[in-house]
Amino acid sequence: MYKRWYPVIDYEKCIGCLSCVEFCPHEVFVEKDGKPSVINPDNCVEFCRGCQRGACSSGAISFAGSLAEAIADGRIRIKEVI
Ligand code: SF4
Ligand code: SF4
Repeated sequence: MYKRWYPVIDYEKCIGCLSCVEFCPHEVFVEKDGKPSVINPDNCVEFCRGCQRGACSSGAISFAGSLAEAIADGRIRIKEVI
């Protein structure tokens, strides 16, 4: 099934520390040529943001699938996010 929430790496900002690879327990990332690569996007837990908040100090991680889209899709309700 196509999943709309997964990390996207900005390689202009990524410094190759590989903290995200070590941080994520769901093996979403692997190291490839010294940089993280998102190889298992379907393993990502929707709205987790752990790697972005807890691992990446460079602001290189964002996510595909916005909150507005999720609300519009009915996947989450507004009262769950305010
Ligand atoms: S958001 Fe969570 S589950 Fe998804 S890649 Fe980051 S740490 Fe892993
Ligand atoms: S934690 Fe951020 S800077 Fe470090 S490898 Fe991952 S994306 Fe790049």
